[in-house]
Amino acid sequence: STAISGGGGGFIGQSLSQLLKSRGHQVTIISRQPGQQKITWADVSTKGLPPCDAVVNLAGENVLNPLKRWTEQFKQEVISSRIDTTRTIAQAISRSPNPPHTWVVLTGVAYYPPSLTQQYSEDSPGGSGDFLSTLVKKWEDAAELPDTESRPLAQLVKVRTGVVLGRHGGPLNKMLWPFRLCLGGIIGSGKQPFPWIHIEDLCRLLCHTIEQEGKVGGILNAVSPSSLNDTNADFTRALSRALGRPAFLVTPSFAIRLLFGNDRAPMLLEGPRVVPHRTLQTGFSFLYPDLDSALAQLLS
Ligand code: NDP
Repeated sequence: STAISGGGGGFIGQSLSQLLKSRGHQVTIISRQPGQQKITWADVSTKGLPPCDAVVNLAGENVLNPLKRWTEQFKQEVISSRIDTTRTIAQAISRSPNPPHTWVVLTGVAYYPPSLTQQYSEDSPGGSGDFLSTLVKKWEDAAELPDTESRPLAQLVKVRTGVVLGRHGGPLNKMLWPFRLCLGGIIGSGKQPFPWIHIEDLCRLLCHTIEQEGKVGGILNAVSPSSLNDTNADFTRALSRALGRPAFLVTPSFAIRLLFGNDRAPMLLEGPRVVPHRTLQTGFSFLYPDLDSALAQLLS
């Protein structure tokens, strides 16, 4: 089958393309830049989508880039890189003479309000409160397709992911050197929940939804089942064990607020406890359910 991957040249997209290709699918990437096996967002807006069986959107300006000051301009880039790309795909699907069977938008568990005690599954309320949860709500809304009873357009799947643990990008990659230099440690109180997923499991889940050919729709939480009980301190300890380095430093909350600002700091200082209830119900099984097995594989 043929899959189109918006933002598919990034950290998650590269792994997803590799997996899809290994399973016999063809992949075309939507990017800001033209290139081999690529089309641009402008192409999609003007010419629509090429014939395809599934579309995934993984585009998004990196929110937690510490080198980017949280200016109004950067904030708009964070918002529009997610919402405008998602809307562009949704509009192209609704105009397509041969729509795909599956349309997957990858968002985040930041949808759920942070809490030390509450557990959230896919049908829990959220999408209001801080900057990120409202962003996720608008981002998911932008993916909605018009109701066309006579002509089903595509099955929409909203995959809400936790922190993606992978070697070649994302947060783990940024933490490896400080931890190797014994400069690792907890962030803030360390008690904040740490919902995470191994990149291979996330890509397997995205591939699983595509291969269901429209039979799976709705919201799926992409977090490892045992991450429900993991905190930032648990992650810090597991990484310290896996690397054989002490990690006793503390980055205080005020320093995080100073560096990242009030809209972004909650991503590091707070978090929701999330259960992948519907994900498991669809028959998906995780290869890396716990931190030790995930980190052992990633650091081997
Ligand atoms: P990347 O930072 O690797 O970015 C993915 C792609 O997005 C890039 O390759 C780029 O494609 C495109 N992009 C970046 N900035 C812009 C912009 N300003 N306008 C348009 N397109 C842009 O992201 P990840 O692979 O880590 O994440 C993919 C998605 O998953 C994102 O939406 C992210 O919010 C979400 N997510 C990721 C998590 C993680 O832990 N990594 C956790 C929760 C959610 P190109 O240069 O080809 O245009």
